[in-house]
Amino acid sequence: MLIVQKFGGSSVADPARIARVAGRVKKVVLDGNQVVVVVSAMSDTTDELLALAQEVGRDPSPREVDMLLATGEQVSCALLSMALAALDCPAVSLTGGQAGIRTDGVHGKGKIVGVDTKRLVSELQQGRTVVVAGFQGLDPGGEIVTLGRGGSDTTAVALAAALGAGVCEIYTDVDGVYTADPRLVAEARKLDVVSHDEMLELASLGAVVLHPRAVELAKLYGVPLVVRSSFHDGPGTLIKEVGDMEKAAVVSGVAHDANVAKIGLFDVEDRPGIASRIFQELARENINVDMIIQGAMRDGRNDIAFTVSRDDLPRALEAVRNIQHQVGAKGVTYDEGLAKISIVGAGMVSFPGVAAAMFEGLAQAGINIAMISTSEIKVSCVIQRADIERAVRVLHLKFGLEKPGG
Ligand code: ADP
Ligand code: ASP
Ligand code: MG
Repeated sequence: MLIVQKFGGSSVADPARIARVAGRVKKVVLDGNQVVVVVSAMSDTTDELLALAQEVGRDPSPREVDMLLATGEQVSCALLSMALAALDCPAVSLTGGQAGIRTDGVHGKGKIVGVDTKRLVSELQQGRTVVVAGFQGLDPGGEIVTLGRGGSDTTAVALAAALGAGVCEIYTDVDGVYTADPRLVAEARKLDVVSHDEMLELASLGAVVLHPRAVELAKLYGVPLVVRSSFHDGPGTLIKEVGDMEKAAVVSGVAHDANVAKIGLFDVEDRPGIASRIFQELARENINVDMIIQGAMRDGRNDIAFTVSRDDLPRALEAVRNIQHQVGAKGVTYDEGLAKISIVGAGMVSFPGVAAAMFEGLAQAGINIAMISTSEIKVSCVIQRADIERAVRVLHLKFGLEKPGG
């Protein structure tokens, strides 16, 4: 079978761990499988490179930042390939571009648009294990583009889809996907199976254990996806299509995102085209807008507030200030100290009162809600960042998630 295995930053944090990963990969090869390995940068390398960029240039260009960040994954893929060779397991390391990964041209948030598998297939046919640098590809102009934080997961699933792999295994520092971040909630429970839709929500709402685009691609191309520990054996969590007839949990998990910022425009004109003008400007700058609230209109004027990731705040504020006068806004406010707490569950659509229970849990803990948004399978609330860890624990308990079937 052809297997794609992805090892995250903590799994390749130092030479000893890289040697352990090599041993693990070799076993799978000796069992008669072809293996493509995708690696992240060692440990906190990506953060360190970003900090370096900030030290030398106040506003470094996204192209140069991508050039810099891509080196992190190149280091770990070369080292793992050497470690495999040391175990007499023939291997070759490839950059994302060499592995045929083609992206759009959005630096720092690139999307994989295709994979040219020629080189990969030829290396595998020659009996080599291929070690690919995650999180990067080449755009149509031949420029290096990175895929956004956590993007190596997406590299792995994209390669698995393009090669028709039997399974894509994501090896990380936890045993699988839990009912909440196990670093915050000691009672969090590992889930054996999660549906694509629930996993996509959890990942998009802040559960960094998987990159949302990886889940999306796995669903789209039917790639069997498993999250497992790189330190212990165990079945991990399987992400798969769950039939409607199977019992869906009302609430499967709690996700949080501690990096939320809100921008408000007040007293904008109430006429067609205003919202379109504001959000087109943000889209042009490739800024993802999350929640949007337009307040009740007074005297022909509206207040509009929306949230963005804290990293995007400076650029979003600049974009909004550029058009503030065109939309007749009297003022622009912002708050960068926010967070988002969400509950996710495919079964909540048929259970009234889930949102009410969430608001009650937060109220009992004295946590104020700034914004709310809902869909069939999730409810999200924006709250103060200082409250986020408490909110995760309070809601985990409120919905009895520590108990199987809770
Ligand atoms: P890697 O470097 O292997 O990609 P990440 O740090 O990106 O690892 O993802 C693993 C981390 O995700 C865990 O250490 C955990 O703290 C965090 N996490 C957040 N939410 C969840 C969740 N629901 N289940 C499991 N882990 C989670
Ligand atoms: N190294 C990148 C990051 O830290 C990509 C990844 O690990 O998936 O975000
Ligand atoms: Mg990750």
